[in-house]
This record gives sequence, structure tokens and C-alpha cells, in this order.
Amino acid sequence: IVSREVHPADSVVQVRGQAFGGQAIQIIAGPAAVETAEQMAQCAELVKAGACRLLRGGAFKPRTSPYAFPGIGVAGLEQLRQESRRHGLPMVSELLDVRMLETFLELDVDMIEIGARNMQNVGLLKEVGRINKPVILKRGPAATLTEWLMAAEHIAAGGNHNIIFCERGVRSFEPSYRNMLDLSSIPVLKRETHLPVIVDPSHAGGKAWMVPSLAKAAIAAGADGLMLDIHPDPANAWCDGEQALNPQAFRQLLDELAPLAAAL
Ligand code: PEP
Repeated sequence: IVSREVHPADSVVQVRGQAFGGQAIQIIAGPAAVETAEQMAQCAELVKAGACRLLRGGAFKPRTSPYAFPGIGVAGLEQLRQESRRHGLPMVSELLDVRMLETFLELDVDMIEIGARNMQNVGLLKEVGRINKPVILKRGPAATLTEWLMAAEHIAAGGNHNIIFCERGVRSFEPSYRNMLDLSSIPVLKRETHLPVIVDPSHAGGKAWMVPSLAKAAIAAGADGLMLDIHPDPANAWCDGEQALNPQAFRQLLDELAPLAAAL
């Protein structure tokens, strides 16, 4: 279903009126983790002022350590929702556990993220395949492109064809960045599938100073959009502060991306 052989034309995935895979480069931005109502409100103001059209926020965090901050849960989804509806920015959040799907549907999360660690969680993929919400499917940290495409096929086989791939880098031998952004996956996926492909340069680089270069490279390589971590005060973030753009860096990146996006 996800193959271009079956569906030669590009598919456009609509997320509450925002199109992925069309002419525009879509930028999703927001905090890695929702912390407080104030922090979420500040992030939403920045996203809105920056002309980004979708708001992200992690409520359930898949941390490496069981003792690290795990997200504030349902309260985080509610705060994200409040800012989403206040500003007219569709909301995106990660579904970690199939038992929370009903809650995501009740709170009307506009786009469900399946994170890298769950890319091959077939039970979860099947469940989001049965609903009609758009799904962002992140690439597993060590997944081949065929495995990634087949994970999407699990979702599509259930009837939900509203899938957006998100490249976020893969595990490599190099310790100076978090993951190695695989830019080559963009042209390969654009060739193999009709579905949109976006890039998360924040989780790839893992360092805020790297994000602008990776973001620009992703757009130049043909990505349909970006997902960016931002924070009003990255040094005091509860999760992934090192990779979050501060307000000034975020505004500057958006300024730098505008002519690039327009030129494509
Ligand atoms: C995230 O987007 O918050 C996240 C945890 O990303 P990934 O699944 O790519 O690590």
C-alpha cells in the first residue's frame, strides 16, 4: 500500500487542514516534553509567531533510564491541547503504549507520533492502523529502509493510509552527535513511497548548534518538512535541553529556511 508502484503520484496527508507532501515545507515545533502550563504557553507563542503550523509536545517520554523524567502524562496532553486550540495549531504527541490510545482519541490529538523505539512494535502499529488519525512514523535507531517501509505497511494494512515518515538519524560509531542523520534515506524513500517524509534534526544531532545545518540539509535533500525541539530556557529543560533551540536560535533558523523552502 505504501509503495509507489501501487500509487505513483505523491500522497498529501492532511492534519487538521495542514498538508504534508504538497508544495509547502511543514514545520512542527514544540518542546520535547511538556513541563508546565507556562512553558507550554511560551512554546506555543513562539511556534505561532514563527509561522509554523503544528505544535508538538511530549507527554509520555521514552527515556533510556527508568529514573529519568518520564513526562507528565495526561496533564501534558491537556496542556498541549489547550495551546493547540488557543492558537489553531494542530497538535502532535507520542503514543508510547497502546493502552493510552483511547485517551489520545478522547483528547483529539491531531497527529500521533510513533517514536523510534516503537517503530517495530507491531501491536501498536496495528492499533494506529485501525484509526483515522494521521501518524508520524519515526525511523527506528537501527532500522533499514525496508524495515521502516514495512512498519508503515503494518499501519496501512489496517486501513489508515495517513502516514508520514520521520527520519531522525540512526545509531553509528561516532560519539560526537546523538544519531547519524541519514540524508540518503530521503531520496530513497521519496522514490519507494508516495507518502511524505519529514526530518527531525533535533533528535539526530542531539545538540542545538547542529540543528540549523541538519535542517537545511534535510530540506535541500527533498524532505517535506521538519520537526524541531524548542524550549524557552533550554539550560533548564526537564528533558533533552541540549538539543532544544532557544527562542532566538529558533527565529533565526526560520528566517534562514524561508528562502531555501521558497526556492524548491
Ligand atoms: C521525540 O520525538 O520526542 C522522541 C523521543 O524522538 P525519537 O523517537 O526519534 O527518539
